[in-house]
Formats: sequence, C-alpha cells, structure tokens
Amino acid sequence: MDILILAVVIALVAVGVISGLVVSSRKKKQLPPPAPPSTPTITAPPAEPQVGEDAVETAEEPRRTIEEVGLPEAEAPAPAPVVEPEAPAAPEIEVPEPTAGRLIRLRARLARSQNSLGKGLLTLLSREHLDEDTWEEIEETLLVADVGVVPTQELVDRLRERVKVLGTRTPADLRALLKEELLTLVGTDLDRVVKTESGEDTPGVIMVVGVNGTGKTTTTGKLARVLVADGRSVVLGAADTFRAAAADQLQTWGERVGARTVRGPEGGDPASIAYDAVKEGIAEGADVVLIDTAGRLHTKTGLMDELGKVKRVVEKHGPLDEILLVLDATTGQNGLTQARVFAEVVDITGIVLTKLDGTAKGGIVIAVQRELGVPVKLIGLGEGPDDLAPFVPEAFVDALIGD
Ligand code: GDP
Repeated sequence: MDILILAVVIALVAVGVISGLVVSSRKKKQLPPPAPPSTPTITAPPAEPQVGEDAVETAEEPRRTIEEVGLPEAEAPAPAPVVEPEAPAAPEIEVPEPTAGRLIRLRARLARSQNSLGKGLLTLLSREHLDEDTWEEIEETLLVADVGVVPTQELVDRLRERVKVLGTRTPADLRALLKEELLTLVGTDLDRVVKTESGEDTPGVIMVVGVNGTGKTTTTGKLARVLVADGRSVVLGAADTFRAAAADQLQTWGERVGARTVRGPEGGDPASIAYDAVKEGIAEGADVVLIDTAGRLHTKTGLMDELGKVKRVVEKHGPLDEILLVLDATTGQNGLTQARVFAEVVDITGIVLTKLDGTAKGGIVIAVQRELGVPVKLIGLGEGPDDLAPFVPEAFVDALIGD
C-alpha cells in the first residue's frame, strides 16, 4: 500500500516537473531570440534618431540573452509548438551577401534582356556577304540598343576594318572580335571603385542624386547594403524631403542592416538634414555617410539651388568623396538629357544605371559614359535588396554577347 502511495506521489511530482519545464519553455520562447555569441546584442539603431544626439545614449537597451535570464540553452527542453504572440520586435539585422561576383550571379538577368543586342550583332556579322545593307543593319542594332551615334559609328568602322583583315570568319572569331571592340568602348581602365574613404579621420561622404522615380532611394538603400557587406559602417541621410515616403523607405533599408538614418520633417530643409547626417556620421565614427537627395526637375535653377546648397553645406565638414548620379536605363535619350542637366549642376563622379534587368538597351552604359566622361560604377539588376552590382566591364560584355 505504502509503495502504491509512494508511486502516486512520484508520478505527481514528475507531472509537476514536466509542466514546469513546458512553462519554462514557453517563457523562453517568449523572449526575443538570442543573438549569436559573436554578434552584438543591439539589433537595430533607434527608430528615429534625434539628430546630433550621442549615438551611445540613443542606442536601444541590449537584448537579454538566454544566459542572462538564467536558462542555459543546454537545459532547454525540446521546443514545444507554441503560437508566438505578434510582438513588434526590432528588426533583425541582415547580413547582405558579399559583393564580389554579384554581376556574375546576376548575369542571367542581364543576358536575358540584352540578348537581342549581342545575338543580333553576331547573326549579322556571320552573314556570308557583309554588304552595305548588312552594315547598316548592324548600325541600326547598336543605335536601337542606345549605344549612341558616335560610339556606334566608331564600332562599325572598327568592325569593318577588322572583319576585312580577318578573311574567313568563324563564329568564335567573330565573337572574340566583337567582345574586344565592345570592351574597348565600355572601357577597361576607368576607375570604377566607389570612393568611401575621406583620407581624413572622418567618414567618406557620398551624395546620391537623380530624378525621382529612377530608383534613387532604393539605390541608396542597396548601396548601404553593399558597403555593410564589405565591412563598412554606414549612416544614412534622408535629404529627399520632397517625396513623402522617401525618408521612411530609406530608414527601412537602414534598419535592415543596422545603419542609422538621420531625417527631418517632411518638406524640411534638405541641406540641414544632409549636414546633420555627416555630423552624426562623425560622432558615431561611421565609415561612410550616404545622402539621398530629392530630384525634382521642375526647373534647372531650382535643382541647381537645392543640390548646390546641399553640397555646400555638407562640405563645411569636408569635401564630398562621391556624387553618384542614378539613371534609369529604360529611359534612353531622356536619361541622357537628365544626365546632362545634373552634370551642369554638380560634379558627378560616378553613374549608377538602374533597371538594366528590364531593358534591351544596355548600350546606354557606353552612351552615358561618353556623354559625361564619368564611369558607370554600379548597376541595378532587379528590385531585390542585393540586386545592385559593382560594374565589371568584362562580365557586362560577356553577358551582352553570351559565351
Ligand atoms: P526614387 O524616386 O528615385 O527614389 O525611386 P525609388 O527608389 O522609390 O524606386 C522607384 C522604383 O524603381 C521602385 O519600385 C524600385 O523597386 C524600382 N527599382 C529601383 N532599382 C531597380 C532595378 O535595378 N531594377 C528594377 N526592376 N527596379 C528597380
């Protein structure tokens, strides 16, 4: 009998312990997920930093880890299926994919949309008789792909000369020849590195300009990811105060990779936001400050006044390291006109061509470089967060022509 009572007591205690563990397990599950030991426990910058405030003071409370609340992971029972309450948790910091080889990864997108240029040229060059009509068709193909009048003429002249010298033309010969000539036009010796070092003890400062709708804010966000992927710390300046959603959009990009965004009131003074962003970057000891600007092409004077002021005010902290012009590759001639206007207003140091995934007009790379005398440094190949690639001429031309 005593043995029976003892057994019942043991059974009750066991049930108690198990349900206790389940509760503990629920408690544990309700905690924010633990940070891996090697990563910092602050998962995101404050939602809306006060400009000029000390970065350390504004940082969130570090999250408590499992260890800190006294429940070593090793003792945790197998997780029971628990329905998590929807908590407005701080966003997890993402680790963007490395930038090396991005263009190779994204090559298919480029090739998909560019095939008409490369394939078209190769087909034409493979004709048995390269008569005047064929050369005109070749010229037409290049113009349709937005290569531009002068570069097209140069390329056709070079091809005519070299095809003549070549004599017999195998497809492999033609491909090699076309690759070589396109590469010459795109340029292999331009400095395409996005400059992020000020050379001083202050952050590198990059201003991003372009007409609204070209993908400027998206590109600024993607560029922050590119820089973070390459190990740099970034502060964002939301100086596009014209478009209502731009600051929110930029802040979301920043939060995803742990970059603080300095912003002001809607319709506020872009120059003072840009100034404060650099000040914040200096205070934080950030590597790079990225400033998004508004690109209303209402009048050239208005644009000139606004961008000129942003630039002047930012340069009170020190010279700008890059002014990147964002152009939508699908806009052809219109894009070139925009490029001209911006180049008159500020000294563009690099071009970002967006939406190259949606166009067969990849020749714009050649045309815009010619127009501005400034290299294409980055290209956008999709709406995904890591769809911005450093521009590599060889990979680009390979994608145009196919292997
Ligand atoms: P902004 O007014 O110039 O700041 O324009 P946004 O950054 O808001 O971008 C406008 C639209 O272009 C958005 O829908 C973006 O997702 C899209 N976009 C930007 N870059 C690319 C790109 O490289 N490829 C594609 N397909 N869409 C892009």
